[in-house]
Amino acid sequence: MSGALVDTHCHLQLEDYRDDLHEVLKRAREANVVRMIAVGFNLRTSRLAVELASRFEQIYATVGVHPHDAKEFNERTIDELRKLARREKVVAIGEIGLDYYRNLSPKGKQRYAFERQLELAGELGLPVVIHDRDAHEDVAITLERYINVFKVNISGVMHCFSGDWELAKRCLDVGFYISIAGPVTYPNSADLRQVASKVPIDRLLVETDSPWLAPQHRRGRRNEPAYVKFVARKVAELRRMPFGKLADITTQNAVKLFGIQI
Ligand SMILES: [Zn+2]
Ligand SMILES: [Zn+2]
Repeated sequence: MSGALVDTHCHLQLEDYRDDLHEVLKRAREANVVRMIAVGFNLRTSRLAVELASRFEQIYATVGVHPHDAKEFNERTIDELRKLARREKVVAIGEIGLDYYRNLSPKGKQRYAFERQLELAGELGLPVVIHDRDAHEDVAITLERYINVFKVNISGVMHCFSGDWELAKRCLDVGFYISIAGPVTYPNSADLRQVASKVPIDRLLVETDSPWLAPQHRRGRRNEPAYVKFVARKVAELRRMPFGKLADITTQNAVKLFGIQI
């Protein structure tokens, strides 16, 4: 299985893939992308992710409510998520977090949904998939408080990492993984390239965030899991490391964090 990759974050459950999912999965297989994690971002897309995972051996699922959808989050949402999280092949709570770039939900609601879902992950013993856009300080402080002060036993990943090395260090200090996505191939990503080359190799993951964030040469078009190879290739180049080795180690990391089977 040398050189096999895991796309640790995609949204294959979306309508974007309705017409050609089988071809998308075939291209993933041809690119040696052996596992994919379909990430939910509200109750609807979490249910769809769980359903997709039950149909395809190579797909796993996460369930959670994204900061954009936090405005609809309430006690019943937590009960629903708790039920969904017990379904087979659900490997994490996510994506959850804070997004102050688009602010589609009020900040207070975002924080409430984020914190309740961190507690749920602690209760269920599942890792979390964190979405952080322009909310670096609040995300870092929240994780530090839950892990170091409240002693909630959670691990997780900063998905599509977009901060600088200072933020990466704080996330690594609380035991988190850093996941690199397509923007590492964009010309104006000096901070991200620095992070991608400095993160300890045993804490590094790769992802596509499909259908969004296609790599540079396909920018603006629909992304798909096969293209995680372009992310991995760029990261390997930055670290001056053979591609196969980077693939193998990031795949082992995904197995370890999410408990997926290959
Ligand atoms: Zn996200
Ligand atoms: Zn996502």
